[in-house]
Amino acid sequence: MQNTEAFKQKLINLRREVTQRMRSIDRDIRHEDLSADWNEQATERENDEVLESLGNAADRELTHINAALERIENDTYFFCEDCGSGIPAARLELLPFSTLCISCAEDLEYRSTIPNNDNSIGNDH
Ligand SMILES: [Zn+2]
Repeated sequence: MQNTEAFKQKLINLRREVTQRMRSIDRDIRHEDLSADWNEQATERENDEVLESLGNAADRELTHINAALERIENDTYFFCEDCGSGIPAARLELLPFSTLCISCAEDLEYRSTIPNNDNSIGNDH
């Protein structure tokens, strides 16, 4: 029996952290401290792009956290999504959103390094 509660607590804390980060990014994007200076506004627009990508990253993280919490609720958290074998708790400590066991994750990594030739064939009418 795995210590589900500890992982759940960890993910809930992480979710709180990410939610707070998103809130402060949102505040920055809305420029509640509007500056009149045009140059500063131009800089702020550049910052907006950075903030937006940070916001998107936080958004993705939140999706992973929620998915992991759902997996805990469904008792599937400790099992590989691909082959169904157990994911070691040590791996989940390091990567709380992993959905794959070590060998499946390595497999995926290996496959993603192989160039995908399908695209060039498909585009050639
Ligand atoms: Zn697996």
